[in-house]
Amino acid sequence: MGSQILIHNLGYPRMGAHRQLKKSLEAFWRGAETVENLHKTASEVRRGNWLQQKDAGIDLIPANDFSFYDHVLDTVALVGAVPARFGWKGPRVDLPTYFGMARGEAAAKEDTSSKGGSGHSDGVHAMEMTKWFDTNYHYIVPEFYEGQKFTLSSMKVLEEFQEALALGIKTKPVLLGLGTFLRLGKIHGKDFDRSQLLPGLIEVYVEALRHLANAKAEWVQFDEPIFALDMTEAERHQVLRTYAKLTEAVPELKFLVATYFNDLGPNLATFAQLPVHGLHVDAHRSEKELDELMHRLGPEKILSLGLIHGRDIWRNDYERSLKIIRQTVAQRGEEKVWIAPSSSLLHVPFSLRYEQKMDPEIKSWMAFAEEKLVELAELRAAYEGKSDLVSRNRELHEARMHSARIHSKQVKKRAEGIAEKDLRRDSAYAVRREAQRDHLRLPDLPTTTIGSFPQTEAVRTMRAHYRKGKISVAEYEAFLEKETARVTRWQDEIGLDVLVHGEYERTDMVEYFGEQLRGFVFTENGWVQSYGSRCVKPPILFGDVERAKPMTVRWSTFAQTQTRKPMKGMLTGPITILQWSFVRDDQSRAETARQIALAIRDEVRDLETAGISVIQVDEPALREGLPLRRADWAEYLRWSVDAFRLATAGVADRTQIHTHMCYCEFNDIIVAIAGLDADVISIESSRSEMELLEAFRTFRYPNEVGPGVYDIHSPRVPSVEEMSGLLEKALQVLPRQQVWVNPDCGLKTRGWPEVEKSLTNMVAAALATRKGPAAGG
Ligand code: GLN
Ligand code: ZN
Repeated sequence: MGSQILIHNLGYPRMGAHRQLKKSLEAFWRGAETVENLHKTASEVRRGNWLQQKDAGIDLIPANDFSFYDHVLDTVALVGAVPARFGWKGPRVDLPTYFGMARGEAAAKEDTSSKGGSGHSDGVHAMEMTKWFDTNYHYIVPEFYEGQKFTLSSMKVLEEFQEALALGIKTKPVLLGLGTFLRLGKIHGKDFDRSQLLPGLIEVYVEALRHLANAKAEWVQFDEPIFALDMTEAERHQVLRTYAKLTEAVPELKFLVATYFNDLGPNLATFAQLPVHGLHVDAHRSEKELDELMHRLGPEKILSLGLIHGRDIWRNDYERSLKIIRQTVAQRGEEKVWIAPSSSLLHVPFSLRYEQKMDPEIKSWMAFAEEKLVELAELRAAYEGKSDLVSRNRELHEARMHSARIHSKQVKKRAEGIAEKDLRRDSAYAVRREAQRDHLRLPDLPTTTIGSFPQTEAVRTMRAHYRKGKISVAEYEAFLEKETARVTRWQDEIGLDVLVHGEYERTDMVEYFGEQLRGFVFTENGWVQSYGSRCVKPPILFGDVERAKPMTVRWSTFAQTQTRKPMKGMLTGPITILQWSFVRDDQSRAETARQIALAIRDEVRDLETAGISVIQVDEPALREGLPLRRADWAEYLRWSVDAFRLATAGVADRTQIHTHMCYCEFNDIIVAIAGLDADVISIESSRSEMELLEAFRTFRYPNEVGPGVYDIHSPRVPSVEEMSGLLEKALQVLPRQQVWVNPDCGLKTRGWPEVEKSLTNMVAAALATRKGPAAGG
């Protein structure tokens, strides 16, 4: 028996099954691909996606979810919000302008492997980029200014709708909602109330929507994840007004407003009131509020249930989903209920079909984008009575829950046994400081680096040879030792105080540890878009995490034999490992973080035992793990700080623990940062000219701080004067005995010539400042 429940999708991966779009884009940027070929690749990817969704039985398939770079940038193009520096004259945003905004106008020659188009190179600098909500996808930040005018400047949404129509598919075009677009932008120049821009933006949207209506579109999806955030009363009011205007202006179309990544929380009433034809929620996150939502929802509205998780890679639990469907249908009737993934499938890999090497048992627990489409169709069939689908799904779930692959008694027992004292160093920082001074005998304003040194062509080639079996482990390790010894001696020669081994043995700071820890698997083809053409292959954390044997001790101790100066051990922290992986959903993230922390704790101790007296545990992802709403921050910060402390508190007073974070917004989390109780924290600050240190001063941050004086995002070599200037600034804010001298971040993506000069200058700046007028203070 059929039902009237409609199944739809919110968005699909854009790169193609084999990352065709990435390859084509990068070739185009290099000048090795024609624009015609790029367009051909793009339309093949779109066509493939549409047909695949059609074959999977999806009733309503999205269009305009495709993008050459990013959907927020597409919206910038749609409304013609091109910043003046690009000299764009209209009327349409062409590809060179579009890529110029994304990558900067001198960027074509730049190294595409280094993250975040350096805003400092000559030419016109790119627009900023930042993380899309709490995902690892980055969007281009719109630039707003007072009095900004908008015009319809891209027909992409219409063209893609028509392209699909020509294939016989009437799609549901997707647009970024104006509430979210306005919220995500950044004001340039004088501050003003950005809602002043709304009338102009609405006009452009209306124009675009009229084109869609003329082309006989029926449904349009507006993505409004602003509802996942804290909204002001004014924002709520504006969103309501916006949709009232759009509905009134283009009554031929039906609008579906989608929110995802969170429950509705305090925004529920506003969301329910939106004067549109349909609303989409993340049904699992919102399960507890569904009754209230339905209670407030007019009976004529469609309620779309985001049941298939759009962000993780685990199979759906059909019984749980069916319960939600039945509960909703009971109240609204089948014709008012749609089912879908919770968010766009952009955030998961394309297909499990290409995972030939993955352990079949673990693989059977997963669903990537393609498999999620199948799940969606199965879920409806299950609702319609195909009970064998439900029982098979249940079997798979039970097999996973009880698999010996996941559960380690030892790990669980150890995690349960954690006591308060395990999170505390033996003595308070003031006592530790003395012990560390005696032991390390460092000068005033000690110099160090963040860990990695340039991963040169030679290093990458040797790794590739090793991975392909062209050279033996012994040959590869001998090569790495040679590089490590060389970088160690070089640091010694130029006079750095605390040295690093260079991290030549690592490709990626999470992958390196994931590969050595139990509880992780890796994919061959599990690529997910990170930004533009850039994709990452996140590790999958599926089970209890356990360290089989020391992971880094070999490299740190080898490097220590090459110098008499302290060699800093280098580890990735539990929160960063958690944040940059796909994580199991059968226990809390806090619990998983605790397990990773225990593994790192063992490594920290082993390093100490092996004679390493300075150990850095990097947590660059601590801040990005913050929940989307403020009310949830405290809880997250509590367990994440505890995890860091658990990882690091097991050492003696005289062992110095460092941490590193590459951002500069600390004002609102400074209490938690202090709570980490790291002896030294190195942070990014050169670009913000030490302004961030204000947070450390007002808070009276008690431990040591290394504010970055060398901006590693740019190939530019900072001069001695420039860096001593920054140091002087830091010394105006922080007591001298609290300050370290270091770059903003690791040097992995930089070239040797500039690194040599920059670090030599940095050491000279430290020496000059040590001798300076304030010396001895
Ligand atoms: N230790 C790492 C490195 O130097 C830190 C990288 C990071 O903070 N993202 O590369
Ligand atoms: Zn960093």
